[in-house]
Amino acid sequence: MSEAADSYRGATIVFATRHGKERQAAAPFHEQLAAHVIAPDDIDTDQFGTFTGDIERTRTPLSAALDKALLGTALTGRPYALASEATYASAWGVLARHHELLLFHDRERQMTLTENTVVTVRGHGTTTVAGAEDAQAAAVRFGFPATHAVALIDDETGVVARKGLADTDALRAAVTELLARGAPVHIGPDYRAHANPERQVVITSLAERMAYRLTQLCPACRTPGWGVVGVERGLPCDVCGEPTAGITADVYGCGMCGSTRPSPRPNDTISAQWCNACNP
Ligand SMILES: [Zn+2]
Ligand SMILES: [Zn+2]
Repeated sequence: MSEAADSYRGATIVFATRHGKERQAAAPFHEQLAAHVIAPDDIDTDQFGTFTGDIERTRTPLSAALDKALLGTALTGRPYALASEATYASAWGVLARHHELLLFHDRERQMTLTENTVVTVRGHGTTTVAGAEDAQAAAVRFGFPATHAVALIDDETGVVARKGLADTDALRAAVTELLARGAPVHIGPDYRAHANPERQVVITSLAERMAYRLTQLCPACRTPGWGVVGVERGLPCDVCGEPTAGITADVYGCGMCGSTRPSPRPNDTISAQWCNACNP
């Protein structure tokens, strides 16, 4: 194998996290690449925004993840970094869509690769609670205590959040303390990776995909990192034959030379229920 093709084998890769994400990436990167995933001793990723809103998230997930990865390389002097960024949005009543982005950055090549996934989770958002009993009942619905809880007030003076509430005593104490401030108290899941086992599973699955991708060589320039960079749409309707938004192919690409190749999906047509002409 050429030197370029082998560049991530046995490498040390820094995961720019203060929330233990290196633990989710360690096994996949070891298995695929015999690589070591470490975290910086002290990295302030909260400066890029927090879930609870005490520090506003102003960047896109992609730019926040890239900034974290660059900070990880700067703090450690290592050329390769991982960073991830989650976004939660309400969908279908009590459920939510969790989008997770995992980014790999190679500072020497100035190459950035991303893997994304969207999963459905329970219990998005916060519930306003009147007391500790209420808080406990609300928290159980999103998987507490396995998923830790956040209690917060959000008034004209800003957000005050108590995070990482991992047991009933901690939850009760935080709710009692915040209620004494006289503002409504809200309870929600803690989305930070070390406090959220469901998110850990998602980060692990993306780490598996990224580690595998770093073993795949670009057919044109032989740089590792060949993987899906987009899709082609226009699958014909099975009644009228007009193109729809249905996906015809996954597009594989290189993060270095920019070459791409479509990989067709098996279906030749899509049901007319997705056709704007037949079913506007
Ligand atoms: Zn049609
Ligand atoms: Zn290439």
